[in-house]
Amino acid sequence: MKRVIFLLAAVAAIAMGTIDMQAHKKVKGSVEKATVAENCERMPIIGVSASETDAASAPITYVRAIKRAGGVPVVIPITTDKAQIEAVLEVVDAVVMTGGEDIDPLKGYGEEPLRALGEIVPERDEFDIMLIRMAVAKGLPVLGICRGEQLMNVAFGGTLYQDIPSQVPTSYIKHSQKAPRNYGTHTIDIEEGSLLHNQLGVKSIAVNSYHHQAVKDIAPGFKVTAYSKDGIVEAIEKIDSDCVWGLQFHPEGFVSMGDDSFLGIFRHLVEKAKEKR
Ligand code: MN
Repeated sequence: MKRVIFLLAAVAAIAMGTIDMQAHKKVKGSVEKATVAENCERMPIIGVSASETDAASAPITYVRAIKRAGGVPVVIPITTDKAQIEAVLEVVDAVVMTGGEDIDPLKGYGEEPLRALGEIVPERDEFDIMLIRMAVAKGLPVLGICRGEQLMNVAFGGTLYQDIPSQVPTSYIKHSQKAPRNYGTHTIDIEEGSLLHNQLGVKSIAVNSYHHQAVKDIAPGFKVTAYSKDGIVEAIEKIDSDCVWGLQFHPEGFVSMGDDSFLGIFRHLVEKAKEKR
């Protein structure tokens, strides 16, 4: 508990610029200077984009998955104040863009809303797009999950299917599963040599599925690295990056329940967070 309090205090102090990196610490009764390197050995802090209904929160599954992979999750509440986002990006070492509502098609990619469009939250869209663009510009690792993956595509110039059932007649697979979150119901085929392939070590796996939107036109500078059997995009990654990528399924659903088959995804995030710091 002491360590957690110290960590939070240190993070807050660094964020506010109130201490320099030559912090002092007591060792065997004497005061020694802690080096910058020593200070950097703290655990990596993983920012998690929040949704806001009656609370600024992220599902516990993301929190548990990040902890299991050795990271410290910190929920980032919605803000569209650029200075606040800059401040939080000084503190976190990586960002997870979480799942949630549909993305506004008109503002996001210039399409009129179809009748089957679900709930949209304009302020969350604006925040998420600012957060992901600023995090990528800063060189931070970013993992987008479900809405987070779609958001990543939209933020960098791609488009979405607003509603798979009404827009993709060739899609025959149930992408809105009625099954436990740690149970895979449909197969994805993974591109060899992709980030996803490298982390999972397989070219095909059953994933969970809770979406009615999906990536349509891939954003410039990104590529598709996994498809479902009916051709729906299930993973994307930034071409010139080893740590900016998005998944249409929910690996945190498995990892949080103790299923290690998807743990590599979060381990990779935490490792890259350490490297890029
Ligand atoms: Mn799916």
